[in-house]
Amino acid sequence: MTATGSMPTYLGMPAFPKAAKQAVADSQLRRNLTHATTTIRAKRAGAIGELADFAELRAAAKAIKDHALAHLDTYLARFERNVTAAGGHVHWARDAAEANAIVTRLVQAAGARSVVKVKSMATQETGLNEALEGAGITAIETDLAELIVQLAQDRPSHILVPAIHKNRAEIGDLFRRTMPGAPGDLTDDPPRLAAAARAHLREEFLSASVGISGANFAIADTGSLVIVESEGNGRMCLTLPRTLISVVGMEKVLPSWRDLEVFLALLPRSATAERMSPYTSTWTGVTPGDGPQDVHVVLVDNGRTATLADATGRQALRCIRCSACLNVCPVYERAGGHAYGSPYPGPIGAILSPQLRGMGSPVEASLPFASSLCGACYEVCPVAINIPEVLVHLRDQAPKHAPERAAFLLSAAILRSPSRLAAAQRAASASRKLIARKGRIRRLPPPLSAWTDTRDAPAPPEESFRAWWARTRGNDGGPPRT
Ligand code: SF4
Repeated sequence: MTATGSMPTYLGMPAFPKAAKQAVADSQLRRNLTHATTTIRAKRAGAIGELADFAELRAAAKAIKDHALAHLDTYLARFERNVTAAGGHVHWARDAAEANAIVTRLVQAAGARSVVKVKSMATQETGLNEALEGAGITAIETDLAELIVQLAQDRPSHILVPAIHKNRAEIGDLFRRTMPGAPGDLTDDPPRLAAAARAHLREEFLSASVGISGANFAIADTGSLVIVESEGNGRMCLTLPRTLISVVGMEKVLPSWRDLEVFLALLPRSATAERMSPYTSTWTGVTPGDGPQDVHVVLVDNGRTATLADATGRQALRCIRCSACLNVCPVYERAGGHAYGSPYPGPIGAILSPQLRGMGSPVEASLPFASSLCGACYEVCPVAINIPEVLVHLRDQAPKHAPERAAFLLSAAILRSPSRLAAAQRAASASRKLIARKGRIRRLPPPLSAWTDTRDAPAPPEESFRAWWARTRGNDGGPPRT
């Protein structure tokens, strides 16, 4: 991975179509993904089905986020004042490089050579682990799935279940090979795998002097941060080390505690199909004699201000990273998370990464096209992000190849004129014998081969609807001729 000013790009990562093609060819990966997403999908549907007022909660969540984003300057300033008043320190980072530099400086100032981390999308976005490694500091992931990914020197492939692409046999094998202190007779039994990870991590928690976290929410009125998690590793990282550094995307701010109620009802059900998360941790600055005594919050922009300026695209900033959209996406289910070439995979990644990073590289420019536009993501999103709308909006902005541009110009010219459309339809019908076999077109010459490389197309009909209409009813639309 290489860190640019804005966000790390995975080194050597091809654009989505090529990466997805490689992933789809991996049948074990497809089996793992299908099993995991099908299970989570069904559980989520059950948990959401219990909420009689889901539609109202969803509308409230959307309204609260939109309000907070529209007044972000006010709420961020209020958040900073309240963190500072509670004994914490707020740092502002324009981009990934600045955020990483701030965190590295703080860790060095604390005299630490290693840190324990709570799973955090913001630090994956900035490539913090790699930056710390460059400064000789070891970052230890303490979330079980993140630990698996770290031990395998792999990359996360899901927002919430980073090791979703691995099954337990692969994980058992990995632990036996790479985890310090793993029992020699460790089996693939999930409770035994979890116990081995717990024993390994306990040592790290007890010796760490610096903890690094993200945050699910930042409350402006009190200067508090909130993390929801399932394993308790977060609670350990947030309470045991003397220094706590939280890297937070600036769109995470909510105006007040009252608002949190809505999100705590929606997030666990949408994410892990739980009525509430096993651990909901909140903290406000420093509490003398209790928990970390040196508390820092790094507020990260990294493309968010530019995203906010886009009237259609800004809704992506409402995202609460529940990953419900990944679990219902037919493209994600087949291609997996790595194909998206960014820390944010799936439908939300397809709209967020190109906006945060810009569409200057083939990877980002390909992401808005990584969708069938079926709309399943919009349906499940608890903050009502209209992902298909943003995808279409971004497709419009994506750099076009010359043949593609020419094809669109030609289509526009044909569709603007009824006589040109009729002529084109006659030409298509006439070409039928040349390009189709048994009613299907299987191969077209370049550049149209981009379409037939991955799918067939139906042959044009022998007679177009217009020609049939004119032949059977006459051009005046009268009664059918016999
Ligand atoms: S876009 Fe919506 S469904 Fe997808 S992760 Fe974000 S909040 Fe969840």
